[in-house]
Amino acid sequence: MYTSQHLFINGEWQKSSNNNETIDVFNPANGELVTTSASANEDDVNNAITAAKNAFTSWSATSAKQRTKWIHTIADEMQNRLEDLTKAISLTMGCPYKLTKIIQVQGCIDAFREFAEMTNFVEKTQQIDNVTKYHVPVGVCVLINPWNYPLSQLVGKLGPAMATGCTVVVKPSEQTPLQDLIMAEIFEKVGAPKGIFNVVTGHGSKIGSHLCSHSDVDMVSFTGSTNAGIKVAQVAATTVKRVCQELGGKSPYIITEKADLNDAVKYGVKDVMLNSGQTCSALTRMLVPANKYQQAIELAKTIAEANIVGDPANPQTTMGPLSSKLQQQRVVDYIKLGIDEGATLITGGFELPEELQQGAYVMPTIFADVTNDMRIAKEEIFGPVLCIIPYKNEDEAIEIANQTVYGLSSAVYDENTKSALKIAKRIRAGQCYLQGSYFTTKAPFGGFKQSGNGREWGQESLNEFVEIQSIIA
Ligand code: NAD
Repeated sequence: MYTSQHLFINGEWQKSSNNNETIDVFNPANGELVTTSASANEDDVNNAITAAKNAFTSWSATSAKQRTKWIHTIADEMQNRLEDLTKAISLTMGCPYKLTKIIQVQGCIDAFREFAEMTNFVEKTQQIDNVTKYHVPVGVCVLINPWNYPLSQLVGKLGPAMATGCTVVVKPSEQTPLQDLIMAEIFEKVGAPKGIFNVVTGHGSKIGSHLCSHSDVDMVSFTGSTNAGIKVAQVAATTVKRVCQELGGKSPYIITEKADLNDAVKYGVKDVMLNSGQTCSALTRMLVPANKYQQAIELAKTIAEANIVGDPANPQTTMGPLSSKLQQQRVVDYIKLGIDEGATLITGGFELPEELQQGAYVMPTIFADVTNDMRIAKEEIFGPVLCIIPYKNEDEAIEIANQTVYGLSSAVYDENTKSALKIAKRIRAGQCYLQGSYFTTKAPFGGFKQSGNGREWGQESLNEFVEIQSIIA
């Protein structure tokens, strides 16, 4: 079904020069082998970067109209490959098929088309006195992504890169290479200019540093853990590259006294359990007024337990496995830690029903009696684990919300949008969702503090992929 043992370099499928090593990719729902991908080495990386560099001259000179056309042509072919993309993602990272199709694939195709309408960004100029300001494509970009929303993260970078006239070398997570390889098949099928899109599959720990320090790379756009993001920025600094970092989070959700508690808790629990808790912006710290605490816990328990956890291929399933046995172990360790720290396990935990024991499952888990200084409240767990924290008054809620090294997302549920906005403005995070609103690619997405420094989606994402050139006449 998939061309997975090759790399896509300069519009052609090439064997890795690292013949001895490949990467096995497993289905986290049952441990079965899905595919084996190439493990690129530094020579492969050099070839991909050279291809992107050579292609940049002509691609960056294309008109906005031409780039608009290419983005739509590629999106059309993505639409034709909707089933393949869905299957590839669901099989390799465990998100239920039905959900994958809507949020991980169709949503991405639609979002990719939005960038087709932004290509004239590099043709617009601004004049002040004798100065003309131009947006110039930054050049060769390395795009590195994780496994949790693998196509979305690719499109969020590829869209603005293509729109502005940049060429790219992409490295998907070792666990989810297939959607990037299908995208390469799409570029090949539609006859896109050779070298504008190159794929190297491989281990971040082996080729990451070379990709991010290569002198012919102008910019790195990285999504992943804060630890890896720091390493990327450190090696990229040796050649003074721009680095756009989209990193981890531990996002707060303030439910106020005046909120409709039922709706508010339902929204928060569903948000955390989506994608088995593997969402960087998940609202994993739910802050509830002390006098509503018991009621909120009971509601949260009922909502969490209503999830149908199981086979991603089953249309009834609302929660699949975590993306790997390794991730399952990390989450189980955090659940054990929470119990040791003195939090109260309300539902879930590390035990599994017999029929789920082969896969990388974790049941929807809720902790109460959590204080913000516990590690389960401070560190990103990246699994279906919600911490419910009580607060006495609004000031204390905001203090707890901001008491984190992260600042990716947040949410407020109050009496109405106007009153919720007053609280939102006091939260230090890149996004804040009011009154149960949802993710949209119209909103720039990115972090404050250790959640990162760039923005993806929306017009603002294009800023990451351009230099500003001033011409003084
Ligand atoms: P990870 O950091 O382990 O890996 C992400 C990618 O980086 C992979 O492709 C990996 O191979 C590569 N990588 C690892 N070490 C590298 C290095 N030294 N140099 C270059 N590349 C390297 O993250 P993960 O476990 O795949 O994903 C989960 C993390 O991603 C979570 O922390 C989550 O919050 C974060 N994330 C953030 C966002 C966001 O937009 N802010 C979105 C999704 C996920």
